[in-house]
Amino acid sequence: MTIAENLKRFKNELPENVTLVAVSKTKPVSDLMEAYNAGQRVFGENKIQEMEAKWQEMPKDIQWHMIGHVQRNKVKYMAPFVSLIHAVDSFKLLNEINKEAEKNGRIIECLLQIKIAEEDSKFGMHEADAAKLLASEEIKTLQNVKVVGLMGMATFTDDTKQISEEFQKLKKIYTEFRIQPFNSAQGDNFRILSMGMSGDYKIAIENGSNLVRVGSAIFGERNYQ
Ligand SMILES: *Cc1c(COP(=O)(O)O)cnc(C)c1O
Repeated sequence: MTIAENLKRFKNELPENVTLVAVSKTKPVSDLMEAYNAGQRVFGENKIQEMEAKWQEMPKDIQWHMIGHVQRNKVKYMAPFVSLIHAVDSFKLLNEINKEAEKNGRIIECLLQIKIAEEDSKFGMHEADAAKLLASEEIKTLQNVKVVGLMGMATFTDDTKQISEEFQKLKKIYTEFRIQPFNSAQGDNFRILSMGMSGDYKIAIENGSNLVRVGSAIFGERNYQ
């Protein structure tokens, strides 16, 4: 199957309210252009400098999502163009994004990454810390970032019941945060639940995801991380 054929299959398969982020990390610009020419406009990368290089080279109507762990000293490279940062896990990082967004005269949308997997290796905040951050006075001082939802990654396992339970947990937190008065600064803008990858996007959608991050099922297997 070609990249264009894979995308067409996803377009037919995904419910209308679900956004497809084509995760193009490690793939050459020629592959991304094949997806672009098939109509794809939202791409996800996990390394800031790789994303910046692709942004330089490619058409400017693409929305670039940073889906990987973010180092604060690299925020400046993506601040001029990034459209959504998925894996925010601290006030310090949010503060840095705010600073760089302000320099660029932009408001940058972000998701808080919540830890739902059992593995230690997965980044993310605990629910209580995320709630505390959203309710804090400090967050109100940040005029150039908007927290518009949550992101999570399930445990890498064949146990679909476990994956399903982890996604359910995140959906529940998302639903609670949406209606919390402490979240009034975000209002209706708290609207994105980013969960699901090539191996588990169907389970994620069943459990309320409205944005899936799919790489290998579109572009083929990666040779390296
Ligand atoms: C690589 C990556 C994906 C896509 O993974 P696939 O299994 O290739 O679909 C999704 N989300 C994050 C955070 C990733 O790093």
